[in-house]
Amino acid sequence: MPLLCLIAEQSIPPPPPVPAYTRWRAWGQAGRDGGLDPTTMARTSSTRAGRPTPAPLTPSPSLPGVLRLIWQERQISRADIARRTGLSRSTVSEIVSVLLPTGLLAEVGVGVSSGGRRPIVLQFQDDALGVLGIDMGAGHISAALTNLRGVVVAWEHRSHPVRSDPAGAVALMTELAARCVRQWGHKAERLLGIGVAVPSPVDLARPDELCDVILPAWRGVSVGAALRKRFGVPVLIDNDANLAALAERWWGLGQGVDDAAYIKVATGVGSGHIIGGRIHRGARGLAGEIGHLAIDPRGAACVCGLRGCLTTLVGAQALVARAQALSPAYPTSPLSRGDLTIGALEDAALAGDALALRVVDEAADHLGIAIANLLNLLNPALVIIGGGLARLGETLLAPLRRAVDRRTLITSVRSATIVTSSLGARAVAIGAATLMLERAFDEPTRFPTAAAGR
Ligand SMILES: [Zn+2]
Repeated sequence: MPLLCLIAEQSIPPPPPVPAYTRWRAWGQAGRDGGLDPTTMARTSSTRAGRPTPAPLTPSPSLPGVLRLIWQERQISRADIARRTGLSRSTVSEIVSVLLPTGLLAEVGVGVSSGGRRPIVLQFQDDALGVLGIDMGAGHISAALTNLRGVVVAWEHRSHPVRSDPAGAVALMTELAARCVRQWGHKAERLLGIGVAVPSPVDLARPDELCDVILPAWRGVSVGAALRKRFGVPVLIDNDANLAALAERWWGLGQGVDDAAYIKVATGVGSGHIIGGRIHRGARGLAGEIGHLAIDPRGAACVCGLRGCLTTLVGAQALVARAQALSPAYPTSPLSRGDLTIGALEDAALAGDALALRVVDEAADHLGIAIANLLNLLNPALVIIGGGLARLGETLLAPLRRAVDRRTLITSVRSATIVTSSLGARAVAIGAATLMLERAFDEPTRFPTAAAGR
């Protein structure tokens, strides 16, 4: 996350305290008796007039696997698809003939013969469609338009008091998305869809509603309605840490790692977990609220109503408050003079300032407790630290690894690699776009006829 965002987020007053943990629970229960299936909502929304007719993809059970294989290989012949999948040549030809008119594939030449006729090479068309990913943080909105290979072709970013101004945030989201589409230079009809990352747990039964315990001003506000209306494409919504984890899994350090965790440490603290190669959302989509693990039961009150949650110890506001409290003991520290912001604290730590390093060491110790618990519970092979604090790199990782080592006894658990995000500030937005891409690969009928939008 860029420095500017952190400063902006820091200046936003914290939400009013909500003492009753039951409110969180009540929110999590919402929609149990009804609510809309996000899949249904997305499908319905994609049928407005003007949208290209959905591709005539017959629901062959083998189609998703074949499409994914072509995407993975980038170029492959029908014969090789048959060899790799075990499908008959005629089934493969049939599936390819269904896929070719969509514009997702093109025949790009002939390959090397292994005895018979030279095979025609099929190539996945990365730029056939665009995907929009929106990262709505507590104090910023970013929009990334990617192609079908996760390459960002347009990017917009603004600071905005998202927590206190939902109407403005929804309008800004729409504006930044439209700007990205203009930069891209194609019609919105060529969008596969829009993914939106939100700084809140997302109840799978009501994905458009944010947790009103975390974001009380958003009560009754739909995150995705304006985007659906403006662009006429499916909109999917998920938690920001989940989507950053997904981005790392598809495009970053998590590639090839089936069990990984992403921990976002910024204004708030959250985590996303990849288990068996997929995001683990839990029964209701609320998994990964690592920020509300109780680290110190006698600690400060948290927004969720509990005490001593990880967020109250390593969230941006907590770190600034800790530096302020310690500053009299460090009169020569630059942090003891002037405005103390999370950005200034991070800069001072990177410059080796003793006060800042003490705050970071303490934060690493608290984060280490949470990560040690996580390793014992889920045994991920990789833990990726993201969010603003990740810019500290080894300054954070070294004390963090020591703290984790002290608290994990089993060597195999301790062997998890702990790193900082490779995708940086764009991880969440790219992950939001990837959510839509992943859904389309799971259900290829979601791919519109790309050629029709050209
Ligand atoms: Zn909490």
